[in-house]
Amino acid sequence: MRKNIVAGNWKMNKTFDEADELVSQIIELLETKELGENTRMILCPPFPYLEMCTDYSNESYFSVGAQNVNDNEKGAYTGEVSAPMLASMEVEYCIVGHSERRAYYGETDAIVARKVDQLLKNDIRPIVCCGEVLEEREAGKQFDVVKRQITDGLFHLDAEAFGQVVIAYEPVWAIGTGKTATPQQAQEIHAFIRGLIAEKYGKEVADNTSILYGGSCKPSNAKELFANPDVDGGLIGGASLQAEDFVNIALAF
Ligand code: PEP
Repeated sequence: MRKNIVAGNWKMNKTFDEADELVSQIIELLETKELGENTRMILCPPFPYLEMCTDYSNESYFSVGAQNVNDNEKGAYTGEVSAPMLASMEVEYCIVGHSERRAYYGETDAIVARKVDQLLKNDIRPIVCCGEVLEEREAGKQFDVVKRQITDGLFHLDAEAFGQVVIAYEPVWAIGTGKTATPQQAQEIHAFIRGLIAEKYGKEVADNTSILYGGSCKPSNAKELFANPDVDGGLIGGASLQAEDFVNIALAF
């Protein structure tokens, strides 16, 4: 059965002490409120805090993910971080193709595909983001955009490799804007994505793939978003920076 996942993308926020405090608060809350048996929490801090988070995770309740990875294995790429480096730090997940990386750092579907390959080679599960910008939604192109991102970024994988992938549908117009997709809008695209996966890899693979929603998800709307049959959790930005909000989202299943 596919997992329900709540992943926190901290982006470029928090000093070390603030990050440490956030993780301690999350753990404290999780000691009193139990997550559903099928729910996985993932923290995706900035690179310098990965080790602090994996140290905590040894004794507790969440997995640790990176926010980015380089698409090469090693070499002269100053300032970059490779998949083997992440694997050597016990990082289990990595976000790929986030709309901010696509918009500000030229991350194309071809680069997404290469990053996914690097991660899978190193037993790290990619959380692959897709989603349309506002003009594309207004032009009714959201299905075409998402289909292209998933096909070009992921469909070179065989079924076994694809089975390691988590997908996050994040309408760009909803990210950090306070504007959330309606539960109906989310369900419609999530069902479409699951259909694409079923067409390519078969129903079993599709049924086992976790498809997360991202875009201004918060405790007040998580329940109705997650109640949809094809919404298997959330990739959470702003609300993951606050322990109580983040834990309450994870409790919304
Ligand atoms: C994100 O950037 O992945 C995200 C979903 O951000 P927010 O929750 O702040 O909209």
